[in-house]
Amino acid sequence: MRRIKRVSVTRYIISYLIGLILALSLLMVLFVNVLADRVIYYDIQSTLIRELIKNNRSVYYEDGMVKPDEDFRYIDDGVYYQVLAEDGSLMLGESPKGTEFAEAKVSQRLRTIEADEGEYYILDRLNKSITKAAGYIVYNRCIVNKQDIDSKYQFIKYTSYASIPVFLVLVLMAGLMMSRKISEPLKQMSKTAESIGKDGELSKRMEYDGRITELGVLAMTNNRMLERVENMFETQKRFSSDVAHELRTPISVLLAQCEYAKEYVNTKEEFDDAIDVIYRQTKKTNVVITQLLNLNRLESDRIVLDLEDADLDEMIRSVCDEIEFKEKDNVRFELLLSGVKANLDIGLILILLQNLIQNAVKYSSFPATVRIVTEYREGCVVVEVQDFGCGIKEEDLPHIFDPFYRVEKSRNSEGFGLGLSLADRIAKVHGGELKVSSVWGEGSIFTLVIAGK
Ligand code: ADP
Repeated sequence: MRRIKRVSVTRYIISYLIGLILALSLLMVLFVNVLADRVIYYDIQSTLIRELIKNNRSVYYEDGMVKPDEDFRYIDDGVYYQVLAEDGSLMLGESPKGTEFAEAKVSQRLRTIEADEGEYYILDRLNKSITKAAGYIVYNRCIVNKQDIDSKYQFIKYTSYASIPVFLVLVLMAGLMMSRKISEPLKQMSKTAESIGKDGELSKRMEYDGRITELGVLAMTNNRMLERVENMFETQKRFSSDVAHELRTPISVLLAQCEYAKEYVNTKEEFDDAIDVIYRQTKKTNVVITQLLNLNRLESDRIVLDLEDADLDEMIRSVCDEIEFKEKDNVRFELLLSGVKANLDIGLILILLQNLIQNAVKYSSFPATVRIVTEYREGCVVVEVQDFGCGIKEEDLPHIFDPFYRVEKSRNSEGFGLGLSLADRIAKVHGGELKVSSVWGEGSIFTLVIAGK
């Protein structure tokens, strides 16, 4: 099996976050670099255009000459202003040292030129009114030292860079908080699971009152599972103690009878009586053991049904005949059968029918009437076994399908409380269900619903 190196949620999230952060920082540096340069470029260009337009208005044309008025700025805040003819010859203004004739061509786009004192930004603007008056092209130019102006903008760039680590620290902190929100409840849940495993305290439950749906669902499903395990464990415990209890009585009788026979039996009649008691007790024990084995087989999901076409009416008739033969006139069966057939395991369904019909007789006072109805209902086969006997109290109804459950009053009658749990399992393995309705003192109806043919 491949060994997987496991890490905590926090470490897992943080390691991913660090990777993401590194990639993000790289992107941000690139972004700030490109974007800041663009922004700076357009900002310088629009500021210079604004200033040029203002200065454009401070020249006029008179007597065949271009002249400055008193507002014309030659140098202002490090910016040199000029008026030039189309061929680049200077008509007005100043040039920074080394930039004379460096760029004769007119261009309305901001660009840089190399000069003795370093790099310069240069921008031209056509002076339309003078050009119109003079009859030849006249334009205004401004020149400014690149380093002087760039240094003003560097601040923006550096603040952008400085914000990157702040942003990253914030992201990392958010990641840490997020991972804590997930890992803390998970830690708590695994602690609970560990303590359940250690002390076997199945009544413990996992707690989560946070807002993360998946964690809520995890706690809920775990708690449901624990509840089921706890119930199963309790049932198993009760079941084992019930089994021991039910077997102890016949075994004690058997032992006592054997000891008695060994010590005191002298005549053939006494011997026959002792054997008779032993036989009956052994038969009783055998019934419990067979029922237990059947129940176990049905519970274990390993059961393979031996399905065949079954004539349910025929099976009911044979069970009733057998009882009638034993009980003589004590029982009257009212059979309302409609020829229903189904694909069933005949051996198992026979056990189910025997249990239902025998119970109907057992829990009625003699002479008893038992009504059995078979019919098709919504594509299903329905078998109803109705008696008019003692009925079952409402509080006992939810338990009568539990193994070994016997209503207090029936403790004196024969049985081990396994018949109905067997019948219920048999119905379930056939994909059907067994329902009961009963009125205390008036009788009960057991209804088997199973897929028809
Ligand atoms: P038992 O061997 O006691 O009959 P079952 O599993 O067949 O065991 O039935 C469980 C309990 O349900 C019985 O002890 C009895 O109290 C009750 N019960 C079952 N069938 C009937 C019925 N037809 N009328 C009244 N009570 C019934």
